[in-house]
Amino acid sequence: MIPAAFDYVAPTTVDDAVRALADAGEEAKVLAGGQSLLPVLRMRLAAPSTLIDLSKVAELRGVREDGDALVIGAMTTHYDVQRDSLVAEHVALLAEATATVADPQIRHRGTFGGSLAHADPAADLPAVALALDAEMVVAGSGGRRTIPAAEFFVDFFTTALRPDEILCEVRMPKRTGWHAHYEKFNRVAQAWSIVAVAATVRVDGGSIAEARVALANMGATPVRATGVEQALVGQSATAEAINAAAEHAAEGTSPAADGNADAEYRQHLARVLTGRAVSAAVGA
Ligand SMILES: Cc1cc2nc3c(=O)[nH]c(=O)nc-3n(C[C@H](O)[C@H](O)[C@H](O)COP(=O)(O)OP(=O)(O)OC[C@H]3O[C@@H](n4cnc5c(N)ncnc54)[C@H](O)[C@@H]3O)c2cc1C
Repeated sequence: MIPAAFDYVAPTTVDDAVRALADAGEEAKVLAGGQSLLPVLRMRLAAPSTLIDLSKVAELRGVREDGDALVIGAMTTHYDVQRDSLVAEHVALLAEATATVADPQIRHRGTFGGSLAHADPAADLPAVALALDAEMVVAGSGGRRTIPAAEFFVDFFTTALRPDEILCEVRMPKRTGWHAHYEKFNRVAQAWSIVAVAATVRVDGGSIAEARVALANMGATPVRATGVEQALVGQSATAEAINAAAEHAAEGTSPAADGNADAEYRQHLARVLTGRAVSAAVGA
């Protein structure tokens, strides 16, 4: 289908984009890589009055260091995240997970910020952002503010972004030297996760000193597996200890039932995939 008619603007700065969004009102939509938004428009599930295309805003692209943080522009494509040397060195979990998103064509167009702003419960990168304690820097007519990942994902396809706000960049504490693995269970013909586990741990002298674990598609928003994290810390990095900790993975979750899996099966997957993710991360 052909989308309903809309006005189109392509600003070149964040300030101009914010102004355009405010001028266009609540019926406007921001366009990033278009990989999620364009299908929605073509199916006429949405009919925004104006599209604010961010593709010409150069300041929203790229990866940089800022002291102890790595900062990724919202318009950085999955392809660029996946092959960035700073990402590989300091937040290896993100590089691993991004490589599993969709297919090469979609990774060339789709953006890190677009994936987070879309907030699909089956998407991979919101869980990674949660596991890595990311902070979202957003700009709107009231100025800039920072939203922790734990508060950014609010509900199915819903974030804490206000209608007049643009996600500008994502800040993540560097986890240099941490071990990481993204374990995803999906149908072969489609890359979206039925359940996936993002795990990164710091090992010190053969024991797990710190752990961050988050689950994708185990609820309306990504879920932090705090029971697993607590059970891992202080344990030796062995398969036996890891599998015992992974038994906590489904605690407090209320996953959906759909054509791919019922809730109980998703909870089983969460435990099994958590064991695999942490074991693969540390090579146990
Ligand atoms: C066939 C297919 C398979 C896919 N498989 C996977 C998968 O396996 N795993 C996965 O995680 N994802 C998957 N995706 C989604 C893909 O990762 C998209 O790239 C991503 O969800 C959206 O990014 P985008 O840049 O294309 O955003 P767009 O489609 O342009 O925008 C998506 C939404 O976010 C809003 N938005 C975008 N950027 C901003 C911003 N900077 N500030 C405020 N709002 C913004 C838009 O207004 C829109 O509502 C798949 C998509 C397709 C089509």
